Amino acid sequence: MGNFIICGLIFSIVLNIIYFSKKHIKSDETKIFSVLIIINLISLLSELLCLYFGFSLPENTLISKIATKLYLVCLMSFLLFMTLYIYVICYITSSKPQLKYYKKLETISYFIWFICVLICIILPIKTTKGFATGLSVNFVYMASTLVLIEWLFPFIKNIKSINHKKIIPLILFVIFMIIISGIQKINPHLTLTTVMEFLIIFIMYHTIENPDLKLVNELTYAKDAAEKANRAKSDFLSSMSHEIRTPLNAIVGLSEDIASFKNDIPNQVIEDVEDIGNASQTLLEIVGNILDINKIESNKMEIISMPYNFKEEITNLVKVTTTRIGNKPITFKLNMAEDIPDELIGDKVHVKEIVNNLLTNAIKYTEKGNVTLNIKCINKNKICLLFISVEDTGIGIKAEKINRLFEKFDRLDIEKNTTMEGTGLGLAITKSLVEMMQGTINIQSEYGKGSLFMVQIPQNISKFHIEKEIKPKEENIESAVIYGKRRILLVDDNNLNIKVAKRALDEFDFDITTCQNGVEVLDKIQNGNKYDLILMDIMMPIMGGEETMKKLKEIANFSIPVIALTADAIDGAEEKYINQGFIDYLAKPFKKEQIKEKLDKIFLHK
Ligand code: ADP
Repeated sequence: MGNFIICGLIFSIVLNIIYFSKKHIKSDETKIFSVLIIINLISLLSELLCLYFGFSLPENTLISKIATKLYLVCLMSFLLFMTLYIYVICYITSSKPQLKYYKKLETISYFIWFICVLICIILPIKTTKGFATGLSVNFVYMASTLVLIEWLFPFIKNIKSINHKKIIPLILFVIFMIIISGIQKINPHLTLTTVMEFLIIFIMYHTIENPDLKLVNELTYAKDAAEKANRAKSDFLSSMSHEIRTPLNAIVGLSEDIASFKNDIPNQVIEDVEDIGNASQTLLEIVGNILDINKIESNKMEIISMPYNFKEEITNLVKVTTTRIGNKPITFKLNMAEDIPDELIGDKVHVKEIVNNLLTNAIKYTEKGNVTLNIKCINKNKICLLFISVEDTGIGIKAEKINRLFEKFDRLDIEKNTTMEGTGLGLAITKSLVEMMQGTINIQSEYGKGSLFMVQIPQNISKFHIEKEIKPKEENIESAVIYGKRRILLVDDNNLNIKVAKRALDEFDFDITTCQNGVEVLDKIQNGNKYDLILMDIMMPIMGGEETMKKLKEIANFSIPVIALTADAIDGAEEKYINQGFIDYLAKPFKKEQIKEKLDKIFLHK
């Protein structure tokens, strides 16, 4: 008999050493487990003492009575903490935590335990060779049985929300208790309770949430390092975008400009210049795609809803995108339903990006035949559910490859597609954008015959559109844009950028002054020069745009609108500049239409 207890004691010491030599996360579960493991060690020791005194001393000596009572108190304490453990898994770590309820039960349990310990100490006990009898022992057995029955209630009540893995040691505990009670009835000398407690503790050791602190620290360190690397990647992309966009700004703008002097230059030069413009445009798109995927992956992509004219935006987009058909024998059709509201509220830029990606792909992967863009809608409860589909008679997609379509950098049929430019990011971005707008995207395709991409996205219908439907239509007074003779201050350290921006503003008959850094801007303003608008670059030597803006705001009565003109196209830039006091933000290279949109807003309050 004693051999069992000695073995249990050795194992318990080993388990205590293993458990307490490691650092642990301090959770309610681990705290209770720490107490249980110590109580079990004391129980084993006290049971060994009981046996030793029982056999070596005469019956009913005070010392063997004290040892037996210590053993009984340990048994009740073990049950108390097992009960608390059950409450923790039922009310704290369960899927429906009830902290307040747990706290109440914890207090009641401690109180009952205290009363029981008092009764156990007060009641009489008899010790004989190897075992004990008497009211105290009977009371402890009766109280233990009641506690085991009580365990059923929180279990049954919370059976759905508790982690079932954690119940295993408790069920085993109840089963072992029943078996051991049976054995003890037959042979009262066989007191196996503490050994059984150890077994349960050992099983619990493997089921409680007991993450290794060292491992957790390593993981935290790895997570920090990954986040740091991700930030470095974003910073790199941001500066790369800046570096690439600045010269592209000049290339796109100037080649557009040269191409507009068609009569004065030989055809060959015009063609070359157009090619330069197209190639730069493609490069810009690639940079844009990389920036977009970076934003999506770092959860920084935002859907910004604003009123916009859907039909007009799509018609303009289609005009530009279909120029990519070039000399290919492709017939393009645009079918736009009549009932699409004029003004919708949504993320214009990203809706256009979705249509542009699908249309560009259809044109890219079709050699001859048709490309059709169909747009229909269902208008209900101020929501316009847009159905956008792009159908082509191109190379099609193999059925088994359709589900790989939205993976990043995955380009299907690479042998066939090698001559076509692309990064394999377009559809991944499209899918993410559609889903961010609570929409869906579906594909039907037959290899060698063509594909059909279908997108559904909900957009709000603008109040303005609803009012316009009711009111008689006002005459459209937007004939020519007249901003008047406005004074503009253009600030950029790069002469090429100044040249391109000046060209974009050429048609508006503005009075344009230029300068190269923030210090010059402050000089001009402080010397009493008046401007209607300042277009200011951000990254400039001597004094950059952000610092200049800060200083400008400090000047009393300063109220000139300032637009941030920057190649920093990384996400959050717009928000950042607006918070700093800029009235708007324009990413370089900007088009005439883009600057016109901003001018409309500032000068015509559109
Ligand atoms: P990219 O066009 O830049 O390679 P996308 O993500 O837009 O990247 O498309 C991923 C792949 O899906 C393409 O490489 C192409 O193999 C296939 N694909 C996309 N659209 C079509 C289409 N309309 N017809 C045939 N294949 C397509």
